[in-house]
Amino acid sequence: MTNTAPEQFVTLADFPTTRIVSADSATDVPCEPVAPGIAITPYLNLGESEPRLGGGFTITHTASGRGFVSSQACLECARVAGRRLASTGVDWLAIDPTDAGTVKASVGEDKYEAVVDALRLFQRCHQRMCWHDEDAATEAMTAR
Ligand SMILES: [Zn+2]
Repeated sequence: MTNTAPEQFVTLADFPTTRIVSADSATDVPCEPVAPGIAITPYLNLGESEPRLGGGFTITHTASGRGFVSSQACLECARVAGRRLASTGVDWLAIDPTDAGTVKASVGEDKYEAVVDALRLFQRCHQRMCWHDEDAATEAMTAR
């Protein structure tokens, strides 16, 4: 099993600003678009004189402002998970996230498994315990 510490010397300045829309506002926040409608938003430490990266990310749906999930994942795993969520083809605006009982039915059984897989990848990475090299190798094998 590969267990590599990823290089993660990114700074806040490395993130472009992306507009996140919510029910009552639209805010430009530092984050990285990884697929149409999906961005990864870094945790910020706001107690400093200038905001600093806090480690970890939230995967955000830019058209609704909803955060799918947060984790201490490294940058690369956050990017991969965001792209996988986008590739599921789920219409996120059509889903009521406040009704957990209907989310699976709204997403659809086949797409739901792909969503769960993407989120699992994202949540099992904890920066110094990262398996994205192994995941990439598995992906390459299954793509053959
Ligand atoms: Zn990782």
